Amino acid sequence: MLKVAFIGWRGMVGSVLMDRMRAEGGFNDFEPLFASTSQAGQAGPDIGKPVPPLADAHDTALLADMDIIVTCQGGDYTKKVYPELRGRGWKGFWIDASSALRMEDDSIIVLDPVNRDVIEKALAGGVKNFIGGNCTVSLMLMAAGGLFENNLVEWMSSMTYQAASGSGAKNMRELVAQMKSISSSAAALIDDPGSAILEIDRRVIDTMRGSDFPVEHFGVPLAGSLIPWIDSPMESGQTREEWKGFAETNKILQTRSPIPIDGICVRIGAMRSHSQAIAVKLTKDVPVDEITDMIASANEWVQVVPNTKEETIAGLTPAAVSGTLAVPVGRIRKMNMGPEYLSLFTVGDQLLWGAAEPIRRMFNIAVQHLG
Ligand code: NAP
Repeated sequence: MLKVAFIGWRGMVGSVLMDRMRAEGGFNDFEPLFASTSQAGQAGPDIGKPVPPLADAHDTALLADMDIIVTCQGGDYTKKVYPELRGRGWKGFWIDASSALRMEDDSIIVLDPVNRDVIEKALAGGVKNFIGGNCTVSLMLMAAGGLFENNLVEWMSSMTYQAASGSGAKNMRELVAQMKSISSSAAALIDDPGSAILEIDRRVIDTMRGSDFPVEHFGVPLAGSLIPWIDSPMESGQTREEWKGFAETNKILQTRSPIPIDGICVRIGAMRSHSQAIAVKLTKDVPVDEITDMIASANEWVQVVPNTKEETIAGLTPAAVSGTLAVPVGRIRKMNMGPEYLSLFTVGDQLLWGAAEPIRRMFNIAVQHLG
């Protein structure tokens, strides 16, 4: 029976992965080992069958016995353990949610509804490292895959509205703490229908600028505001998150000549779903109904939302999408710039298609391949 180690399974991405694997009955065809960098010896997760106590995730002698290692632990862990393992001559599959190995030549970025052909070719060619993509990139490709598939993208600009979960669990908590602090500051006035709105506004902004406002993780208020900077600076003036749009999309699709993709990535006060306003320069003028069909038929999770107010506000929001695998795409229309310019708006759960789901599916593909 295949031996599989799961590392980072109790973190945010790892927990979503475990939930999805339980939901899909996914622990039956292999012998799982759960490991931790901090809780070795403690009880493993409930997967409906007995599991041994948690192993030490730094025990490379033990890990070298695995056929597949699935890690959602983080980049520092990968950078430390992965070279040690390969240094021992380990030939197993490394499936990783972190970005540490994403751009390496011997790694494939996995998003099988979009690049199954690339994955199959890599498996046939002996590639062993399969890495989950950046959440925003994966969600954009799930939404607009039909346009790339039909060679319709000359260039793309994606302006993002990214959720707190992309920064981690502590940041999600901080966003809610910020909301609590704001609502407490104005609670009495909100309860009084006759209170002055400018007084509510003054209290809210005073609270947000006050020294007691919780900003340890974001550094500044996110609730009631936004942050137009995600990740570290690059020499180009982009942030690293913005740079990934171009670099990862072209790697996922293995494009022969790179397609320009750029935009501004913005953190907003959503909990776990990212949104993107996308402008596409098409390679040719194609009618909107044909484009809509291409987008809708690209995969089974993409859902076209008609360009009406009622359907857009009901279905094309983080509130509607969070916790689901649906990737709605709406606001599809030609832009004022000309018939070759298309607008789209899309939303997706960044912990599902943006993180855990491509990893879960790649794991299944690896199991099938080895079986
Ligand atoms: P995380 O929630 O911080 O969890 C990572 C690990 O931290 C856990 O598996 C656990 O490992 C340890 N940990 C320490 N204290 C913990 C606690 N109180 N509760 C749970 N775990 C705790 O990280 P993450 O957001 O899942 O991200 C994991 C990797 O996926 C990162 O490389 C990240 O860049 C990547 N990723 C994240 C996202 C996202 O949206 N968050 C999207 C795509 C990719 P031990 O058991 O070993 O201690």
